[in-house]
Amino acid sequence: MTLAQLLAERCHVLLDFDGPVCAVFPGDRGRESGDAMRRLLGDRMAHLPPEVSQADDAFVVLRYFDQHEPELAEKAEQAFAAEEGRTVLTATPTPGVLDAIKALRGSGHTITIVSNNSESAILAFVELHRLGDQIEGIVGRTRSRTEDLKPKPYLLRRALDKRAAAPTEAVLIGDSVTDIQAARAAGTAVIAFANRPEKEPTLRSYEPDILIKLMEELVRSRNESTRPGAEDLG
Ligand SMILES: [Mg+2]
Repeated sequence: MTLAQLLAERCHVLLDFDGPVCAVFPGDRGRESGDAMRRLLGDRMAHLPPEVSQADDAFVVLRYFDQHEPELAEKAEQAFAAEEGRTVLTATPTPGVLDAIKALRGSGHTITIVSNNSESAILAFVELHRLGDQIEGIVGRTRSRTEDLKPKPYLLRRALDKRAAAPTEAVLIGDSVTDIQAARAAGTAVIAFANRPEKEPTLRSYEPDILIKLMEELVRSRNESTRPGAEDLG
């Protein structure tokens, strides 16, 4: 199946945020977000297992709070969300994503952002870039429960509910293995976005329906699928 065929079949696009839309944690921002949570432990920070105390991935730290520090978990999530809210204000859109969003809207697709990032931070980005009239909805993290997050299908199911869509009418575009796993668990199709060449072999090994290397490919495919006579091909 080609990208154009897949998109012609599925009118609801679920769009991962970090990667396809912008980079939420450039440079040390992931570690700094983790630090904002780790600091909540005060002196007890010294007792963190090394894989949590040294983690650059803020989600590793959030998961620790969710599983081991239930009393502080909501506070940690809020500290994380505040960091994300700050970083998205200076994040530049991924090359080609604004044209891709326009093209998908032009071909009648709905676009719902589905992300492990904080819903309020995503909303801030959408408002800053005036995407509100092109993005149908945002389903992001709203609490500390990490079981909600991709690779689990919960957020995708919430997005499908919002669109009143069946899984077979939807396709997720994401840049991580966890996106492919979440899409499979929810029963949607998935387009893997290999935004760095070194990610391609790993993403391919999880067998996404399609793999793209540039967001522009979504624009080109739309042009292909709407060329004169294309409707007659059935
Ligand atoms: Mg991502």
